Amino acid sequence: MTVTIATPTPDPSPATLDRLRLPRWLLPAHWPTHDGVAALARLTLAHGRFTDLRPALPEEPDTLDEPAGTRWDLNGAMALPGFVDAHTHLDKSFTLGRMKHVQPGLLGAIDAMLADRAHWNVADVRERAGRGLRWAWECGTTRLRSHVDWWEPDTVPVAWRVLADLAVEWHGRIRLEQVALVKLGLFEDAAQAHRLARTVAATGAHALLGGFVHSTNWSENALRNLLTSAQAFDLDIDLHVDEELNAAATGLAATARLLREIGFEGRVVCGHACALAAQPEALALATLDAVARAPITLVSLPATNLLLQDAATGRTPRQRGLTLVKEARERGIPLLFASDNVQDPFCRLGSFDPVEALGLGALVAQLDEPFDRWSDTICRADWLDRRNGRSANVAATAGLVGAPADLVLFTQADRHGWPSRGGPRVVLREGVVASGQVPSAWLANAPAAAPSS
Ligand SMILES: [Zn+2]
Repeated sequence: MTVTIATPTPDPSPATLDRLRLPRWLLPAHWPTHDGVAALARLTLAHGRFTDLRPALPEEPDTLDEPAGTRWDLNGAMALPGFVDAHTHLDKSFTLGRMKHVQPGLLGAIDAMLADRAHWNVADVRERAGRGLRWAWECGTTRLRSHVDWWEPDTVPVAWRVLADLAVEWHGRIRLEQVALVKLGLFEDAAQAHRLARTVAATGAHALLGGFVHSTNWSENALRNLLTSAQAFDLDIDLHVDEELNAAATGLAATARLLREIGFEGRVVCGHACALAAQPEALALATLDAVARAPITLVSLPATNLLLQDAATGRTPRQRGLTLVKEARERGIPLLFASDNVQDPFCRLGSFDPVEALGLGALVAQLDEPFDRWSDTICRADWLDRRNGRSANVAATAGLVGAPADLVLFTQADRHGWPSRGGPRVVLREGVVASGQVPSAWLANAPAAAPSS
């Protein structure tokens, strides 16, 4: 007699995810451990949401009282909630291929970008930004924030309108937010700052006011106008701050101080903050103390910092430019890692995958236990929000139960090496497979094969 082994067809919407490994930060405090390692979990799903979370039993019966094929046995595979990519530039992405020589460093990249603007029409931006969103979707991102260059005070950039359209088209798949990335000097005039904020606010609730705050354009008056005009229109803010290794850069410290003076009620995201790495320890830590008292979330962008900081032709960089991520977390400051530029003059690499950003951060910042302790830096989308973004020390969540069943399942990574081999994955969105190949070994109670003889 021969037995035919049927190749099970993965059910696109499992009812139970059994023996999966969730990160420590996502589990309740009383969760059992074995030899210091959190026990595997069993998650149940219904109608696109998680309905129950409990420790998996060490020995599971082969059959449960469930419809065939709906229980997946993950056998220790690692899982994270859907990702947030908190800082990208969809308007610039995929432009590098058509450029010639680009001078090294941040300012050289800015020059190359300005020259490329001649190509930026609706079709061009739509194609490139849409490609970025597709890549983000495939890797498991549920919320993505993009900056959009804004050059003239009273002219709305083409890319701004394109991204507003894409935010509508991608609704329900990726929550797309857009930030007006404005040179600080355009806020020098208070009336003009007000007009900019009004235009941004009119775009919709997904739009934010932003600016490029750097020692080469530093103006406390302009920064104050930016903050107060955002406050006037109830806008949140997202700044590029101190993206440099100039120890005299004071953008982050000034932002924290001005927010308190103004009594700012929204959330302010400060990206980069590289200068902290170049400052005397006491000064940098004092700035972080002030940041911890302000409604500020930090975003670290390891890829572009490595490429653009301490950059000169023919010379190996000595400084890494990463902000003080461990010291920030110690103070309860919400901190996220994100992609930043993808295949443009600022960064020739990248794939809109936050796991890559965290992987780089884990090496550059020497992070212990990236999965259990630091993977929240690519999942805590609520750290971009007003209410929940207050402190990283507040418990992660009351649990997954009740939340949309958005999950990224890693099919090949293990807890020792993650995020290495973290590329192959299955993405569940509201409980349904959105991308990736479900390993047949997971299909624990797939329909039995019909014996033949
Ligand atoms: Zn950026």
